[in-house]
Amino acid sequence: MDFRQTIMQARAAKRGSLDELSGKRLLAQFGVAVPASIMAQVNAAVGAQLGALQPPFVVKVMSPQILHKSDVGGVRVGLQTVAEVEAAIRSMLENPAIAGQPLDGFLVEEMAPAGQELVIGGLKDPQFGPLVMVGLGGIFVEVLKDVAFRICPIERLDALEMLDELKGKALLDGVRGQPAVSRSAIVDVLLKVGGPNGLLMTFASDIAEADINPVIVSAAGAVAVDARFILTVEAGA
Ligand code: ADP
Ligand code: MG
Repeated sequence: MDFRQTIMQARAAKRGSLDELSGKRLLAQFGVAVPASIMAQVNAAVGAQLGALQPPFVVKVMSPQILHKSDVGGVRVGLQTVAEVEAAIRSMLENPAIAGQPLDGFLVEEMAPAGQELVIGGLKDPQFGPLVMVGLGGIFVEVLKDVAFRICPIERLDALEMLDELKGKALLDGVRGQPAVSRSAIVDVLLKVGGPNGLLMTFASDIAEADINPVIVSAAGAVAVDARFILTVEAGA
């Protein structure tokens, strides 16, 4: 699929951002691993489609009005069966914070292997152009603001230095008996997003802000399990 077209469609529909599925397809096009998924329409049976996925499953509400899905009960993880997936969707549809919103449907995806949650993001600085950032997930980003930024495009050494700047970097080496996570997998994602041929450079005129929160990194690799891309007000702006 041509992403310029996806971006134009979002603009034509007066949407300021790409929906999660389009965002993940964009990441996949740049070689970033995302969970296998299917899109379930509201009130449609999902059984036949789910055959393509391996449990455990995750269900997420998709609505242009819901930015923080878990805040409204719009994310359920660890579902084992078709019946559990269908029940999760039904209970979301009965949730007033969800039922009252325009819905695109429900994203049903595979669980990423357990690991450390990181945030990788980007934003377009009026003076410097695209910047790429990385931080450790949860309170490290939200409370401690433990993040590292660079101007794009970055090289491998920049990405390694960014990780080294994080105050919480010891978490990457495994604490309390956790295995160390793959730094090279994180560096890879940073380059695919912020490198010379990366997503942020390629779509510099269209992407105002990128938020991949979280990327789940294990010893085996990194998977982007959430993706939000906010569009610039006008292409070329
Ligand atoms: P929100 O809109 O609330 O940020 P997310 O899509 O980030 O929703 O999901 C919330 C949390 O659920 C994530 O931070 C992660 O811990 C977990 N999660 C979501 N999708 C997956 C997945 N495919 N595999 C494993 N964990 C997931
Ligand atoms: Mg998220």
